[in-house]
Amino acid sequence: MPHTFEAIKAIIFDLDDTLYDCSGTLVRSRRLKAARVIAEAVGCSEKEADELQRNLDEQKTPNGDLYETIGRQYSLPVSFLEDIKKAFSEVSISGIEPFAGVTDTLKDLKNRGLALFLVTVGEREEQEKKVRVLGLDGLFDEIIILDPGTFGSEAKKVGFREILDRHGLRPEEVLCAGDRMDRELKVASELGIYTAMVKHGRHYQHFISDSKGGGEPDMHIESVADLSGILPVRRPSR
Ligand SMILES: [Mg+2]
Repeated sequence: MPHTFEAIKAIIFDLDDTLYDCSGTLVRSRRLKAARVIAEAVGCSEKEADELQRNLDEQKTPNGDLYETIGRQYSLPVSFLEDIKKAFSEVSISGIEPFAGVTDTLKDLKNRGLALFLVTVGEREEQEKKVRVLGLDGLFDEIIILDPGTFGSEAKKVGFREILDRHGLRPEEVLCAGDRMDRELKVASELGIYTAMVKHGRHYQHFISDSKGGGEPDMHIESVADLSGILPVRRPSR
């Protein structure tokens, strides 16, 4: 379906693996930490524990946490999840940085008069800290952080609807940039929002390796930095 980018007034960004490398930094470090805990609890090698996590990750356990699944599968005590949480807390998020060109692109799009939003699912304090560490706070018109415990797989839909309603935007005036088809771009598409999938991270890898489908984005981009060249220059509105 042809789409005119002239109509786009706002962009909704995802955070993890869209604006910075989450899979290659935080997720990787946490999984290595968790592998130790799993190996200990299950009685396997850390390498096997790493494999187990990879095989079971979010894509395949849509209705539950990967570690809850492992706990159930191996009948592990409740303390297993506490140990995982503790291992995770040892991974610092202070070292993350935006993908190349992201900060300049956001500034450029903002200067062109586009409204920029961030919709992310996760623990509030942690997501807020990521945005601060990345130096991206202040670049968005609004940041919405949704608790997966409250909203589950519907979280992004809640966030997208809030933005459309609160900012008086029609879906066709909005572009959504993210790395994930299920729970994210698919939902945006259902609301009539134009979707751009970035080629980053584990969800993108799942998407290209899983031929079962589950939808297609309207557009693939290498990175958010590509948006500068794609979107029109709007008259600054503020
Ligand atoms: Mg993401």
